[in-house]
Amino acid sequence: MEPGSQTVDEGCRLVYSMDTLTPAERSERMGRVRAKDTKPEMLVRRLVHGMGYRYRLHRRDLPGIPDLVFPSRGKIIFVHGCFWHRHGTCRYTRWPKSKLEFWKPKLEANRRRDQVNQRALRRMGWKVLVVWECQVDDVERLRDRIGAFLEGED
Ligand SMILES: [Zn+2]
Repeated sequence: MEPGSQTVDEGCRLVYSMDTLTPAERSERMGRVRAKDTKPEMLVRRLVHGMGYRYRLHRRDLPGIPDLVFPSRGKIIFVHGCFWHRHGTCRYTRWPKSKLEFWKPKLEANRRRDQVNQRALRRMGWKVLVVWECQVDDVERLRDRIGAFLEGED
C-alpha cells in the first residue's frame, strides 16, 4: 500500500475508533498523530542536530509555523509530507481513490497555503528549504543538501 492511501485510511479509522476510547487513550492517540511530530520531521531534526546546528522549532510568529528555524542564519527548513503538501509528480502525491470531491479542494488549499507562506517568508528576508518526506531516506544526500543550504550565502 502506498503511504498516500494509508494516511487517508488511518485517518478514517482513527475518527471511527475515537468514540470507544477513554480520554487518556484518546489524548495519547491524538498526540501520536499530531502532524508536528511526524517521523520524517524527527529524522531531519536528529540529522541537523547531529550536524552540530541548533534551531528553534515551530515558531508561531512566522508564516506557516516553520518546522526548523535558524534565526542567526536567516534560514528555515520545512519538512513536508508528500501527500498532504502535494509534492509535484512524486508517487506519494497521488489522489485518493474515494471521496475525491472532499479531498481535492482540501489538498489543493494546502499547497496554495504553502506557496503563500513561503513567499511571505522570502519577502521577510528568510531563505527557505523544503525537505520532502520521500527525500529523507537518502541520508547522505540529505545531509549534503542541508549542509549546502545552511552554509550557503544565497
Ligand atoms: Zn515526495
